[in-house]
Amino acid sequence: MPTAKSEKRVVTLAYGCQMSERDADTLTEISSQKGYTPSQDLEHADLIIINTCCVRESAENKILGKIGELKRLKAINPQLKIAISGCMVQQPGALERLKKRAPHVDIWAGTHNIHEFQRLLDESDEGKVAEVWEKPKETLESVPLAEKGKLKAFVNISYGCDNFCTYCIVPHVRGRERSRHPQEIIAEINALVKSGCREVTLLGQNVNSYGQDLQPPYDFADLLKDVDAIPGLWRVRFMTSHPKDLSDKLIEVIATGQHLCEHIHLPCQAGSNDILQRMNRKYTREYYLSRIDEIKKRIPQASITTDIIVGFPSETEEDFAQTLDLISEVTYSQAFTFMYSKRSGTAAARMEEQLPLDIKKHRLQRLINLQNAQSLAWRQKMIGHTYEVLVEGPSKANPDRLTGRTRGNELVVFSGEPRQIGTLVQVIIQDASAWTLYGELTE
Ligand code: SAM
Ligand code: SF4
Repeated sequence: MPTAKSEKRVVTLAYGCQMSERDADTLTEISSQKGYTPSQDLEHADLIIINTCCVRESAENKILGKIGELKRLKAINPQLKIAISGCMVQQPGALERLKKRAPHVDIWAGTHNIHEFQRLLDESDEGKVAEVWEKPKETLESVPLAEKGKLKAFVNISYGCDNFCTYCIVPHVRGRERSRHPQEIIAEINALVKSGCREVTLLGQNVNSYGQDLQPPYDFADLLKDVDAIPGLWRVRFMTSHPKDLSDKLIEVIATGQHLCEHIHLPCQAGSNDILQRMNRKYTREYYLSRIDEIKKRIPQASITTDIIVGFPSETEEDFAQTLDLISEVTYSQAFTFMYSKRSGTAAARMEEQLPLDIKKHRLQRLINLQNAQSLAWRQKMIGHTYEVLVEGPSKANPDRLTGRTRGNELVVFSGEPRQIGTLVQVIIQDASAWTLYGELTE
């Protein structure tokens, strides 16, 4: 969007998970309150914010490259402010290393300091600033409302994680699990709905354990029921579900809810009990499959997605074959597949028997090949059936067509009118690839 010459512009880039995206929205919102207009034009920005991720080395390398590129813009415009926030900054000992590597950065903020961004922005007028608290000082971060008027929005329901999967850096950089009060969550969603939002995704590292720290007792199933009843909200999504905490009660609530979408993201991570135990996932392959059976029994149309890691330390060919086998048995509509990345400070980084890169790469490719075939088979089964689609806008690949998502979160491309953007329509599916459904509107 073009801006008047006197206006200050902020460009915010988010790397990593949906929580990082939500934090980036908060940072944009705070900047707007300080007079910056959101923009995508890096070359003419007055403030550039990068909200970072450190879950895998590949993400870190990409971000370091991007921060390096900004040196050129700072040289052209010394008034430009550069702010780096989030998980990468929060890693123990990372700040000093990063500061040395990127002296052109003006503001450094950890994951627990996002809500303090306004003060940091003010203080940066006087010179470089950095604030990285080891722990959150309040039970809950204050959450300014996300950008208004969006059709879809992310809403945090909990922060942090208590699970300590041995490969994962998240509990080390986002702290222990803290649930937001249901009243705050409901109030935020009501305000979003008033501003035109029709779909929310409830976010937590493990949404299923939401409420364990709340009194009087109130759990995720209770929250889903209350959010489902909010007038004007059409769709409710949630992620991520940890298999160990997916109760029958919760599956029942999802099955019977009116606006609760039939999509469950249930990361399995691995198919071998030995590896699951070394990952500290706290469930067995058999237990995981029993959860899948219960979902399929109570919600036959459910779209199930997953995360899988290959090449975890000591993973044998037999362990890996069990992962492939599990994938064939479940039939996921989509899987996010990752090569194990050693994260310093985690328990798995200290494990012996780290696997060589070529084995990890080869297994990842075999996994992707299998999942692509499964994703295609899943979508081909939808051909000839009609689905409700929330229309999001013109298709990126073909702007003459529209795009949107089913309740199962499958992407659909179809012909329609721009006036249908932001509405619910019925689409009959005529063709499918592994990633996309193609169809036409029905009456
Ligand atoms: N809390 C969510 C969960 O339990 O599934 C997601 C957390 S993490 C940001 C998203 C995914 O990244 C994980 O499910 C896992 O598959 C992957 N991941 C985390 N640490 C990793 C590592 N060290 N190497 C490769 N993949 C990793
Ligand atoms: Fe990481 Fe495990 Fe927590 Fe997910 S549940 S954030 S994978 S430690």
